[in-house]
Amino acid sequence: MASKLIQPERLRVLNDKKQRSAKYVLYWMQSAVRTMDNHALEYAIQQANELDLPLLVCFGLWSEYSEANARHFHFLLEGLQDVQGNLKRRNIKFVVQEGEPFAVAEKLSQDAALVIVDRTYLRQHKRWYRQLSGLDCRVEQIETDVVVPVETVSDKREYAARTIRPKIHKKLDQFLVELSTTAVNNSSQAMNVDTLDLSNIPAIVENLNVDQSVRPVDHLFTGGENAAKATLRRFLANRFSDYATHRNQPQTDDVSYMSMYLHYGHISPLHIAVQIKESGSGGENEKSYIEELIVRRELPMNFCFFEEDYDKYSALPNWTQKTLGEHRDDVRPVQYTRAEMESAETHDDFWNAAMREMIYTGYMHNYMRMYWGKKILEWCNTPEYAHETLLYFNNKYFLDGRDANSFSNALWIFGLHDQPWKEREIFGKVRYMSYAGLKRKAKMPAYLEKVDELVERAEKAWNSAD
Ligand SMILES: Cc1cc2nc3c(=O)[nH]c(=O)nc-3n(C[C@H](O)[C@H](O)[C@H](O)COP(=O)(O)OP(=O)(O)OC[C@H]3O[C@@H](n4cnc5c(N)ncnc54)[C@H](O)[C@@H]3O)c2cc1C
Repeated sequence: MASKLIQPERLRVLNDKKQRSAKYVLYWMQSAVRTMDNHALEYAIQQANELDLPLLVCFGLWSEYSEANARHFHFLLEGLQDVQGNLKRRNIKFVVQEGEPFAVAEKLSQDAALVIVDRTYLRQHKRWYRQLSGLDCRVEQIETDVVVPVETVSDKREYAARTIRPKIHKKLDQFLVELSTTAVNNSSQAMNVDTLDLSNIPAIVENLNVDQSVRPVDHLFTGGENAAKATLRRFLANRFSDYATHRNQPQTDDVSYMSMYLHYGHISPLHIAVQIKESGSGGENEKSYIEELIVRRELPMNFCFFEEDYDKYSALPNWTQKTLGEHRDDVRPVQYTRAEMESAETHDDFWNAAMREMIYTGYMHNYMRMYWGKKILEWCNTPEYAHETLLYFNNKYFLDGRDANSFSNALWIFGLHDQPWKEREIFGKVRYMSYAGLKRKAKMPAYLEKVDELVERAEKAWNSAD
C-alpha cells in the first residue's frame, strides 16, 4: 500500500542552519526529474505545507555538464517538459534556467526558507552538495533514486553482488513501499520567476554549445516520465513473461529499456519494483528482474559512493590489475585504433553491429555490451587505454551513459565485481568472451538483421529532420 512516509534513512541534513522566514521552499531538482514517486519532491511539499509557504522547484540547464551532447540534452529536455506540465497540474511552479546548476540554485535560495536537493553519487554532484552546505539557509537532502539508501545498505565498498545482495534483501521490506502524493496548500504558479520556454526542444538543443554530431534518437526513445511509464506498461504487458529466458538473447526486445529513464530520474526504481511485484507474474521473471534492477544497479551506486576514483583504471581490485599487468606485453593479434572502432568496420560483424546499435539508437542490449567491452580490451594495446576508450564510447553514445552504472560496468569488463577465471593471453585471469560462444548462445543472424533495421529507421528519421 502507498504511504506518505519518507523513511528517515533517506534524509541527510547538509548544514546546521535553521529554517528562516522567506518567500518559499526551494526544491533543487537535479537527479530525480519526475513528479511521481519522488521522495525529495514529496518531502519538499510536506515541508512547504508545514511552513505555510509555496514550493518552487528549479533545474539548472548547463551545456558544460559532464560529456553531455545533443542526444543527451534532447532526452533530458523531454523530461523537463513533462515535469513542467505535471507540476503545473499540482499548482507548483517549475523554473528552468540556463547556467551552472549550483549557481541557479544558489541564486534562487536567496528567497528560500529551506532548500531540498535530491541525491546521486558522482564527483560533480558531491562537489555541489558541499557547496550547498555553505548556503545561508537550511539545506536538506533526500535520497530517492535507489530502493535502499546507499549508506543504509553498507558502510564500505562492496566486493561483489554476492556480498551486497544479502544486505539489500534484508532491507527490502522496509524500503519497498510506494510513495503517495501530498497536495500543496499554497500554489506557486503565479510567482514571477524567469524560466526557459521549453516548447521547442530542437531549437533549445541547437543553441546549446555541445557536440551536435551525436544526434537525438527520439524516433525510438522519447524522454520523460510519461514515456517512461508507458514503456514500463508495454514491457509488463507484452514482454516481461520472457524476461528470464531472453535476458541474454540480444536478437529479442524482451528487456525493459528502463536504464535511460532511470539515469535521468524519469522513473523511480521503487515504482518499477512495485509494478513488477504487482504484475503477479512472480517466479523466475520477477526474481531475475529484481536482481538486475536492485542488486546489480545498486552495487554501482555503492561503488561510486565509496570509491573516489570510480572512473579510473586504478580503482580496479589488486588481483585484476596484477593479472592484466602480467599480460601487458602479450601479442595482440588484432589491434584497432579508436577511430577504426568508431567507424564500426572491424573484422567482427557481431561487434560492428553492437557498435552501430549504440551509435544509431543510444542503447545496446546488455549481453552485447559485455561482448563489445571484452573485445575492446582484447584489441587495444594496453588495458588502461582500453578502459579509457570503452568509457569514451559508452558516455558519448548511450542515453544511459555517464551514470554510476556506466563507470562500474566499464570496470566490470576488467574484472571489477567479478572473480578470477582460467588464465589466458591478454586477459590473464579476467573473464573472456569469444565470437564462437556468442554465436552458439544467441541467434546472431537475427540480431544483425535487427540492427540493420534500427539503423535504417534512424537514417530515415535523421534525413527527414534535415
Ligand atoms: C560494458 C557495459 C557497459 C554498461 N554501461 C551502462 C551504462 O552506461 N548505463 C547503465 O545504466 N547500464 C550500463 N550497463 C548495464 C546494463 O547493460 C544496462 O543497465 C542494461 O542493458 C539496460 O537495459 P534495460 O534497462 O533494458 O535492462 P533490463 O534487463 O530490462 O534491466 C532492468 C534494469 O536493471 C538494471 N540492470 C540490468 N542489467 C544490469 C547490469 N548488468 N548492471 C547493472 N544494472 C543492470 C538497469 O538499471 C536496468 O534498467 C553496462 C553493462 C556493460 C557490460
